Amino acid sequence: MSQIYKSPKICIVGCGIMGLSSAYCLAKYYQGADITIYSKDVPPNTTSNAGYGIVFCRSYDSKMYSKKIGEWSSETSRYCSELLKNPDNASKMGINPVDGFLVMTKKEILEVEKDPDRESIVHSPSLRSSCTYFRECTPGEIQDKFLSKNAQFDILLDVPKADAQFNNLSFYIYGTFIIDTDLYLLWMQNEMKNMVERGQLRNFKVEQRHVDHLSDLCNKDFDLIVNCSGLGAGKLVGDPLVSAIRAQWFLIRAPEITNLYYAGRTCICPRPGRVSLGSVFQWDRYDTEIDPVVTKDNWDRAKSLFPEIQENQILGEYVRLRPGRRGGARLEFERMTGHGKSMPVIHNYGHAGTGIGQHWGCALNVLEISKAVLLNGKSKL
Ligand SMILES: Cc1cc2nc3c(=O)[nH]c(=O)nc-3n(C[C@H](O)[C@H](O)[C@H](O)COP(=O)(O)OP(=O)(O)OC[C@H]3O[C@@H](n4cnc5c(N)ncnc54)[C@H](O)[C@@H]3O)c2cc1C
Repeated sequence: MSQIYKSPKICIVGCGIMGLSSAYCLAKYYQGADITIYSKDVPPNTTSNAGYGIVFCRSYDSKMYSKKIGEWSSETSRYCSELLKNPDNASKMGINPVDGFLVMTKKEILEVEKDPDRESIVHSPSLRSSCTYFRECTPGEIQDKFLSKNAQFDILLDVPKADAQFNNLSFYIYGTFIIDTDLYLLWMQNEMKNMVERGQLRNFKVEQRHVDHLSDLCNKDFDLIVNCSGLGAGKLVGDPLVSAIRAQWFLIRAPEITNLYYAGRTCICPRPGRVSLGSVFQWDRYDTEIDPVVTKDNWDRAKSLFPEIQENQILGEYVRLRPGRRGGARLEFERMTGHGKSMPVIHNYGHAGTGIGQHWGCALNVLEISKAVLLNGKSKL
């Protein structure tokens, strides 16, 4: 294919998983490209570093659900499976396979099934394809993972006792990946630096700086801007749909927890050297102090499945704001004007609580859009 922009000059705003994976995907395709990342925060201080790293997507909230989430997450899952063919390399990148357990009340499954706007992993082929496998648990698995621990399902799932009776519950097991984003974000940066050394990229640099207005970048000589500014996009491009989804969680030292658990609002996620516990999904809350009510709620729910965990295993408690966007993420082209110039922009932000799972599918989507802009002449997009 003849390239009109053989070695484009690309600016990415944001150095989280969306910014870095978009950069890496473009760098692999446009040999000789010049890539600059402008970012207020850089790894290890981005929201992407804080994320648990689970690729599996069980999204079914009507406000958030978009078929695209399933497609993008499935693409990431396929990418991780491919990388796992070289286990040493995958482990250096921070990509680890894991078996996960999901508990849902039958009532919840029925409610989702009846609602035309909602879909759950249980019935949606597109969401299921974000797992390497997905099936009901065997009686032995239920016994081993839940009943032998005397799990208190009403607390774990935060539902009335009647809904949490054993016969009213469904148990699933699935295969997915946990991406250790501390390693993965570093790996992508190093890989692009290595590409410069090997002569495959003309330039790659990360500049820590705040961008006040995206249109200010029009007066630079970039061929393309990719906006991966997460929660910052609300102000950066004046998008009123962007809002924080507050998370609060614990990290504990518990090497004996090797599986992933999802049950209602509870998520228990093993990462190398630590386990993430709890988390909440509080829309429009921007406060970042520890909320003691949430602390107790998270701890009680975790103890309802793992009564043996003790406070002296706690490594820390944290708050972070996920980049929410009502109606789902924005991944689209826009021609922006500023300083008397026009500039192609691809927006890739607002991935809420599933951005790590979606990242590679989104990066491929960014690449596709970029080809229409950069390779088909001055785009009609
Ligand atoms: C506790 C927790 C657990 C999570 N677990 C999971 C999980 O298991 N699986 C999953 O898929 N997702 C998970 N998520 C969600 C996931 O972390 C996010 O969806 C994802 O990190 C978003 O990536 P991003 O690159 O868009 O945003 P970010 O990582 O926030 O990166 C945005 C970047 O843009 C920069 N920026 C913003 N504004 C500007 C500006 N004006 N100028 C310059 N730079 C700017 C920021 O400094 C930052 O570097 C979790 C989130 C939290 C908080």
